[in-house]
Amino acid sequence: MKLTFLGSGGGRFATISQKRMTGGFRIDDFNGKNYHIDPGPGALVRCYQFGVNPTKIDGVFVSHSHTDHYNDAEILIEAMTRGMTKNNGIIMGSRTVFEKFEKWGPALSKYHQSNSKNLVLVPNKVKHFPNLTIKGCETQHGDPTGVGFQMEHNDFRISYTADTSYFEKLPKYHKKADILIASVLRPYNQSIRGHMCTDDFINLVDEVKPGLAVMTHFGFKMLSANPVEEALRVASETGVRTLAAFDGMRVDINRKYPERSRMIRLKDRFALRLKQENVFKNNIEDKSARAVRQKEKNYYKKRNNF
Ligand SMILES: [Zn+2]
Ligand SMILES: [Zn+2]
Repeated sequence: MKLTFLGSGGGRFATISQKRMTGGFRIDDFNGKNYHIDPGPGALVRCYQFGVNPTKIDGVFVSHSHTDHYNDAEILIEAMTRGMTKNNGIIMGSRTVFEKFEKWGPALSKYHQSNSKNLVLVPNKVKHFPNLTIKGCETQHGDPTGVGFQMEHNDFRISYTADTSYFEKLPKYHKKADILIASVLRPYNQSIRGHMCTDDFINLVDEVKPGLAVMTHFGFKMLSANPVEEALRVASETGVRTLAAFDGMRVDINRKYPERSRMIRLKDRFALRLKQENVFKNNIEDKSARAVRQKEKNYYKKRNNF
């Protein structure tokens, strides 16, 4: 089982500026199935950038109707259903993913909902599938139907808070998580409405005591505070190994000892492509540089002749 972060940025401004990528994350090989979670802007492109196949998914999860979570969901559903020619996979998420509620949603057109199973998740609702048991977890956030989840199989649990403030019952929803993934938008004690800051996350990790904690969905303030430092602070306060996600981070999950999971940096294939273009550019520059040098030589030759 592995996690792949196709983005670690979140909130409006980190998203608009792409200061960090916003493609959400993948859970691969959760009992043989792959899920794309909260595919925000760029999710499809980031798949190719980090060498992940977007057509190899069995489910798309969208926690709520904010663009940094749903923007690329429709195109990923097309990838999952072979361009809407096959019935395949499952779409899971908040009510507003599927229908309008107040000023929210629907995030997906009826067309895109039509070739996959649909599961509206609500807090505490547990749904059993052959490969997966999933429970909805409450959030306190802009979209009133927003929802996190806890996935379970063979007594192994991955929990995702989605966007939420810290509230008293939050740890209860994520109890027993082996891996706890959270949106931690802000550093220090600087929480704002609808989002956790590092100190909130310390409380959550301390209550839940997962094997491994991962923080992601960083906003501007968190990025300038340095998420790695903040993750180290969570670890030292709670005794739980805590990772700050980065774009292209893969975590190979050690099921037995989650704290020993291996973290790798995936190759940025676009950077490699850029390198090739640079080589090409250098060649041109070399040529023109040679031409310039030749012109110079000719000039001095002529001048010396006088
Ligand atoms: Zn968000
Ligand atoms: Zn949000």
